[in-house]
Amino acid sequence: MIKVKKRKILLLPGDGIGPEVIAEVKKIIEWFNKKKSLDFEMEENLIGGASYAKHKKPITDEVFYKALESEAVILGAVGGPQWDNLEFSKRPERALLKLRKELKLFANLRPAICFRQLVDASSLKPEIVSGLDIMIVRELTGGIYFGEPRGIKPIENGERKGINTHTYTSSEIIRVAKVAFELAQKRNKKVTSCDKSNVMEAGILWREEVQKVKDEEYPNIELNHMLADNCAMQLLRDPKQFDVIVTDNLFGDILSDEAAMLTGSLGLLPSASLGAKDKNGKMRSMYEPVHGSAPDIAGAGKANPIATILSFSMALRYSLDLDKEAENLDQAVQKVLDDGLRTKDILSKGKKEVSTSQMGDAIISKLK
Ligand code: NAD
Repeated sequence: MIKVKKRKILLLPGDGIGPEVIAEVKKIIEWFNKKKSLDFEMEENLIGGASYAKHKKPITDEVFYKALESEAVILGAVGGPQWDNLEFSKRPERALLKLRKELKLFANLRPAICFRQLVDASSLKPEIVSGLDIMIVRELTGGIYFGEPRGIKPIENGERKGINTHTYTSSEIIRVAKVAFELAQKRNKKVTSCDKSNVMEAGILWREEVQKVKDEEYPNIELNHMLADNCAMQLLRDPKQFDVIVTDNLFGDILSDEAAMLTGSLGLLPSASLGAKDKNGKMRSMYEPVHGSAPDIAGAGKANPIATILSFSMALRYSLDLDKEAENLDQAVQKVLDDGLRTKDILSKGKKEVSTSQMGDAIISKLK
């Protein structure tokens, strides 16, 4: 068989259940290499607490440069109680922040898909969430989490003042808006942009710039503007009205968690963080499940690997231009759920409980 592609993938399992869920992705990558003649070059390295235990830092320069060179970084999870008392700069989470910042990953993509087989796991009525498929695009490197001035300072009368600054420039808004419009182009051609333009100047700028991008470059996409508080309500009232939602860092943080919960379980939710393309057209990116390191179930074979497997599927689609393979993998996950196999977190009456690796094997057995 002819080898057609050679792609560098960096796997960073991290801590807790991270290594268990990444092990299943590794098996899937090996399957694609063997059965589909894809030539993924996999490398695995330490991050988070695991890196601290060996190197006394949450990420080494060597791993950081490997991430820069890779076409996609797939991360498990970092953190755990044994590292909670470390000084701030050494904590496992610093590795993630460094990667997001230095790779300039400005767009965070979080799909909220309600699998029909798991519709009962949602706290909303089945008819509200069944068939739900929305994509939230959150701006990740600007806004109030990064704006200056910031801090806590003493003021008169012995009081103190906490300060954070919400700022956005046109270019920061335009680049994330383009990500949302491009995604909508491949989906249902509908973007909802959320802001608070009724009370914030930065919100007025957000609304104007997003509208300009649509008018100039994406005339075929339907664009609606919605106030972020209304969006929070609409997500609960009628979430299926949305296709792609684009919003800033703060509102995106909250709205993406809200949307995630419509779908039921943390063990099913993937995410992608995308950066700008370099001069060779290569886009930096990192893919990771939304969940954390779940120390309470680490090592017990109970972790659901689907969130990480679907994160790899997003990497196939967005970084590696392998849409057909992504579809193959998504379908395999659906078929396993159709067969009634469940890890403990999504187990319900009449379904069969399987371990992390049995779930991975079952998904592989459904790949075409
Ligand atoms: P968590 O997501 O790790 O766990 C929350 C609950 O969900 C736990 O009961 C856990 O058992 C369950 N759960 C999570 N993922 C699961 C999966 N794949 N399968 C089955 N059950 C799953 O959140 P937490 O308990 O708040 O945090 C634990 C550690 O993870 C902390 O150190 C935290 O800082 C870290 N964390 C890391 C990330 C990341 O790496 N991106 C994100 C969130 C939390």
